[in-house]
Amino acid sequence: MDSAEFRRRGKEMVDLIADYLDNIEERPVYPGVEPGYLRPLIPSEAPVDPDNYEDIIKDVERVIMPGVTHWHSPHFFAYFSAAQSFPAMLADMLSGGIGCIGFSWAASPACTELETVMMDWLGKMLKLPDCFLFSGVNSQGGGVIQSSASEATLVALLAARCKTVRKIQASNPALAEGEIFGKLVSYTSEQCHSSVERAALIGGVKMRKVPSDSNFALRGDALKKMVDEDKAAGLIPFYFCATLGTTPSCAFDHLLELGPICNEENIWMHIDAAYAGSSFICPEYRHILNGVEFADSFNFNPHKWLLVNFDCSAMWLKRKADVVGAFKCDPLYLKHKNQDSEIVTDYRHWHIPMGRRFRSLKMWFVFRVYGLSGLQAHIRKHVSLAKEFESLVRADHRFEICAEVVLGLVCFRLKGTNELSQRLHENIVKSREIHLVPCRLDGRFVLRFAICARTTEPRHIHRAWHHIAKLASQLSRGPGKMPERGPAVIET
Ligand code: PLP
Repeated sequence: MDSAEFRRRGKEMVDLIADYLDNIEERPVYPGVEPGYLRPLIPSEAPVDPDNYEDIIKDVERVIMPGVTHWHSPHFFAYFSAAQSFPAMLADMLSGGIGCIGFSWAASPACTELETVMMDWLGKMLKLPDCFLFSGVNSQGGGVIQSSASEATLVALLAARCKTVRKIQASNPALAEGEIFGKLVSYTSEQCHSSVERAALIGGVKMRKVPSDSNFALRGDALKKMVDEDKAAGLIPFYFCATLGTTPSCAFDHLLELGPICNEENIWMHIDAAYAGSSFICPEYRHILNGVEFADSFNFNPHKWLLVNFDCSAMWLKRKADVVGAFKCDPLYLKHKNQDSEIVTDYRHWHIPMGRRFRSLKMWFVFRVYGLSGLQAHIRKHVSLAKEFESLVRADHRFEICAEVVLGLVCFRLKGTNELSQRLHENIVKSREIHLVPCRLDGRFVLRFAICARTTEPRHIHRAWHHIAKLASQLSRGPGKMPERGPAVIET
């Protein structure tokens, strides 16, 4: 393909994507294929001679689309939102076109420098304390784009582990690293995302799950009790991961109680706000982040809710030296003459892979095309849609709301046995009209209704509720026992 053909095919591709998104509602949101569906549809080996481009494009509809779960359909309410917008997609195209690998400042200065400025822009949108910003007064901190919240949690844990081991060895040089590792203990809430547990598994340290309160949030006294127990048993508490916006119910750990404990005990506090973090750009939700000043690191995913396509996970550190000190390797072929400059960042020391794409371009495009006000409007629209869905559920007395609705997630269930809600969920998935996933809260099987797509409107919410209520009525006519249908189901 030469540049002339690329120009033509590129324009066709933009049309294909725009048509796909314009008409996405017409497709069943969840694929009807069985495992292994794809292999028989394409040859078992790569072509020896070039394929025709037209045939490749035809195969997108024949081979790929039947197996696509349409995350950007307004009928998709599963997991948490995955961000998508046109400016982000265009910036990603440019990133592919430039195709640099920005592991050091010298490897592509614009790639590094734009990222440092975008992380400051975003940090200021969140009103992060100055100590997390490159440009903050007397700041030793800064931000980095990681691939995922999982990676940020792991990087923080590994940096904390390294810092703790070095500190202990400084006063007790005879102590072997392995001996210290065996005593290290990390903490998180029982409501944490599985990636937090995995970070401890990968980091080779113990992790204890602290029980949450009746609102699924972690309180200071529960953490303190465990830390005291562990210290008395000769263990070394070193890392705590708080969650703002837990995956099952979007609960918020109490940073103002937890932070001072971590600071007193020399425990690294990392905050995982993967989904909810985007909402903190709105002044009415910013109070949830109060206490971030106690944290050593903070992370959230613009690729979830801030209209920046995957992958873009924003992580800030209070002391960038903590990660650079932990992960630095400096072979001659990666050195450059500016690397010791105060104002130069070599991001390869800040994360696990060496290579990195020019991801800040999509932040730059999105922030400029939407402006802070446009991004806030997006968040507020999703929250108001969630509230609208909540009121539909509350008006039907067969159902109950299972957790406070603060942002774009509604947790609900049919009153009665878990089996009833489980069967309702199975029927929702089978129908393929909408898609959502369940969770377990306090031993109860709960349906999670997350506002996901950028294009979701009130009519989609009403249609989804009508569908759920209809399936619930069908269940009540089946063999299971269920309360009578409530009076206030809104049919559209
Ligand atoms: N943390 C929380 C609270 C989440 O809800 C999720 C995903 O939904 C993650 C972490 C994982 O995010 P990522 O896919 O960016 O690793």
